[in-house]
Amino acid sequence: MIKQDAKKPAKELFLGIPADVVTNEEAKARIKAMLEEDRAHFIASVNPEICVAAQKNAELRRVLLSADMGTPDGVGIVLSSRLRGGRIRERVTGIDLMLELMDVAVEGKHPVFLYGAAEGVAEEAARNLQKSYPGLIIAGTHHGYVEPEEEPKIAELIARSGAEMVFVGTGSPRQEMFAARYGEATGAKVLMVVGGSFDVLSGRLQRAPKICQQLGLEWLYRLCQQPRRLQRSLVLPYFLLLSLRDRRLY
Ligand code: UDP
Repeated sequence: MIKQDAKKPAKELFLGIPADVVTNEEAKARIKAMLEEDRAHFIASVNPEICVAAQKNAELRRVLLSADMGTPDGVGIVLSSRLRGGRIRERVTGIDLMLELMDVAVEGKHPVFLYGAAEGVAEEAARNLQKSYPGLIIAGTHHGYVEPEEEPKIAELIARSGAEMVFVGTGSPRQEMFAARYGEATGAKVLMVVGGSFDVLSGRLQRAPKICQQLGLEWLYRLCQQPRRLQRSLVLPYFLLLSLRDRRLY
């Protein structure tokens, strides 16, 4: 059980996986502070799917427990927190937080690396980001379709690029494993997992309209766009059922 230390930020447990009680603004401020420290920090994204997956994957569970911050991602997390008397009130999605962090990157001249998605996608995403955030330093990009044994080479590539912030979008649980395993080797200060964000940032996939996001229906929009996600979406009710049965928040 996670002890709530007054000096440490509060966390809530979802099927035993900790998510930080943070808003987008607070998460951004914390990451800004991490960039001042001389070590790698791993930012995980805590969503219903990963909480369920971690029940059967001990390595993933260990990695999620080791994260420096677990952002509450997904309407299921907010709903479960609310129904159990918790304090998480807003979704902190990978893509929103990543965009918030672009301002931090520009301001502090922190070079950024994008790792993941199909060939060319991270590059296109980087180009679009540079247009929207003048002054943004892109240290490098690499697609995410590499064999696991090639990942140490990716870490070396990132280290040589001088990146301080690394966004990893290679899908779960690969992205979490990479960030936790090779974080130190990359020499970066912050490694954050972002799922399919590069597909959206490159313009290849459309993000759900704001109204869908506000109503907590982004998952439904994504399901319509990519019907192959059906099985993944079905995790949501299962997660709610399990998490509500386990009333321990801390
Ligand atoms: N991906 C990758 N390498 C792989 C498998 C997937 O880079 O071996 C990418 C995929 O192209 C997509 C992202 O990982 O850009 C995962 O997207 P998904 O929609 O599954 O993530 P979510 O946003 O739902 O977490």
